[in-house]
Amino acid sequence: MKITEHISASKSTLFSFEILPPLKGADISELWHGIDPLIEFKPSFIDVTYHREDFVLKRRTDGTYDRVPTRKRPGTVAICAALQHKYKIDAVPHLICGGFTKEDTENALIDLNFLGIDNVLALRGDARKGEGGFIPEPGGNKNALDLIHQIQNMNGGIYLDEELTNANVTTFCAGAAAYPEKHMDAPNLESDMKFLKRKVEAGAQFLITQMFFDNNAYFSFVKNCRENGINVPIIPGIKPITTAKQVYTLPKIFNIQIPVALTNELDKCKSPDDIKQVGVEWAIEQCKELIKGGAPVLHFYTMGKSAVTKSICEKIY
Ligand code: FAD
Repeated sequence: MKITEHISASKSTLFSFEILPPLKGADISELWHGIDPLIEFKPSFIDVTYHREDFVLKRRTDGTYDRVPTRKRPGTVAICAALQHKYKIDAVPHLICGGFTKEDTENALIDLNFLGIDNVLALRGDARKGEGGFIPEPGGNKNALDLIHQIQNMNGGIYLDEELTNANVTTFCAGAAAYPEKHMDAPNLESDMKFLKRKVEAGAQFLITQMFFDNNAYFSFVKNCRENGINVPIIPGIKPITTAKQVYTLPKIFNIQIPVALTNELDKCKSPDDIKQVGVEWAIEQCKELIKGGAPVLHFYTMGKSAVTKSICEKIY
């Protein structure tokens, strides 16, 4: 079922969450152990992130180093298929431009279509470590907009091979990312809004936001989107703070701000458990306010920590 259908069929705020494929070499049961405790809250869909390859340095026998490409978390498509089969819940694979030629993307979409996966989250992907900025694959999509165009083309039966006639028409519901506090590469919110609008005009049917800790950022972003003619569901992304370090790392990695009221509370904490408690309580209050404010879905970035998401869900669902 499409995300948009889940949303329009429900009168209340839905629950969904994002998972990461396990590290290469890990057993899949580790992943199921993370998902099982959240099933009682009836997630409408579960997102599975995509991780492109990164370079690692491998020492040669002569003491010099080789830069070897490796993917630490492979398996997104297979996990989505296994997840739908095991839980009968819609899985949403993240599909990125980085590392994919358009041919690779087409083949991935064909796999997803054959597997009965109805939704995809279309993303550009981040720059690789040490590359400074995002570099598209030669012959690949250069941003999420291009990727959405390719998905929409397949939804219209248009494949890369122009001689292919009467090709199967896919019916993907494509979503895209949105940034209430601006994407890190964007010079300003207005520029980001302009490109976001293009993604929606190209066919993105729902948006999932970057995490934020101040609901005002979400509410004013939604208002701004509506004023700019972006009328698709905007799903807020929730991530509770669980360690003291995250107060400094999250703003850097995701270009977000931590509100003063939250840092003040965290400053009073005496132990890692206190930090977690404050983070969870903050997220619970955020969720309650988002529900009141009409958020269509609460989407949790579990980052493999389902116990924390469960303790929040127990208070709000
Ligand atoms: P785009 O929409 O392409 O935008 C990227 C930047 O370029 C923005 O600053 C935008 O304003 C600008 N821009 C867009 N179009 C143009 C244009 N035509 N000309 C000039 N500038 C333009 N990353 C992963 O690698 N794997 C994941 O699984 C993953 N999941 C994510 C899930 C969510 C909900 C979110 C919010 C992010 C996720 N990311 C993931 C991170 C994401 O890939 C990065 O934030 C990436 O840097 C941007 O992706 P995007 O799809 O938003 O890019």
